[in-house]
Amino acid sequence: MSIRKTEFISKYYYGKEVVDLDEFIVSLADSCNLNCEYCYLKFSKTPKKPVVYENIEEFIKEIDELFKNSEEKIFYFHFGETTDSLLSKKHIQLLYKFCEVISERSKVYSKSCFIEVRTKTFNISQLTKYNFNFDNLKLIYTTSLSPQNIIDAFEKKTSTLEERISSLKQAQSITKLIGIRLEPIIIYPLVNIDYEGIKKSVLNTIKEYNEVLKKVFDVVDPKNLHSISLSTLRLTKKQFKVLKEKKSKLCFPEMTLCIDGKFRYSRPIRTTIYKELINFIKYHHTNLLEKIILSFEFKYIWQDCGLQIKTLPNLSINVE
Ligand code: SF4
Repeated sequence: MSIRKTEFISKYYYGKEVVDLDEFIVSLADSCNLNCEYCYLKFSKTPKKPVVYENIEEFIKEIDELFKNSEEKIFYFHFGETTDSLLSKKHIQLLYKFCEVISERSKVYSKSCFIEVRTKTFNISQLTKYNFNFDNLKLIYTTSLSPQNIIDAFEKKTSTLEERISSLKQAQSITKLIGIRLEPIIIYPLVNIDYEGIKKSVLNTIKEYNEVLKKVFDVVDPKNLHSISLSTLRLTKKQFKVLKEKKSKLCFPEMTLCIDGKFRYSRPIRTTIYKELINFIKYHHTNLLEKIILSFEFKYIWQDCGLQIKTLPNLSINVE
């Protein structure tokens, strides 16, 4: 049995001047063997192979402390930051145990909890073996979506786009809350590095992601959508350096270093992409506008896009 020696629960810090979405990370496991080219885990101090932690008694102490010392009524816990939430059977077994604990302690402290399970796997059949119908706790089945050409280029070991869309269809029999994550939005392929080439690549990227969204709308009842997040590619300085040396196709010449120490596409490129995707979502389902968030973005980008800043607990307030 692996023992977690550091905290299970941590308040997520997005970085200097980045809008805080107010979520807690739960690290029931570390590392991931799906090996996405942009994954920050490869560049952080995580074990080489995935590890799950079973000293749940420590987690119980932490959750009690958190609930006892907080006046907040709604908590948003994200289980897919330090690993893929549904990576293995063991991950799913533990996820269920952690949910039992959270539900039980939430009742004691009169809290409402939302659990985001985020995955790029097609392990939904393992999840359907459990009943996630808990008191004071709701599961949000969340998948990161990319066009198939991006999956083929940068997420080679993950499930296909069709599988991820199919999992969304199935997930609605487990939970009525679905999260869509277009994270990271990657400009690919890059046609050319001159103005016209970049413009063409950006427009093509928007078209590809719109098609992904269309597939979602074909299978997910909009009433079941908890949130849609948009976030273009960001790379730490170390990632940018290493990937550039490897001549990774992720390292777009227009990436600039932002105040939080991450490289991103330039402001006009990001806002163009976000605005077009937001318009597409609005065109299909006007009501979904209030469920769109920008992840890892600055206040001025939200403003450029005409979006009101909201947090993940905010989005969960009126959920029945
Ligand atoms: S699935 Fe997520 S956690 Fe796993 S390698 Fe890809 S980005 Fe990293």
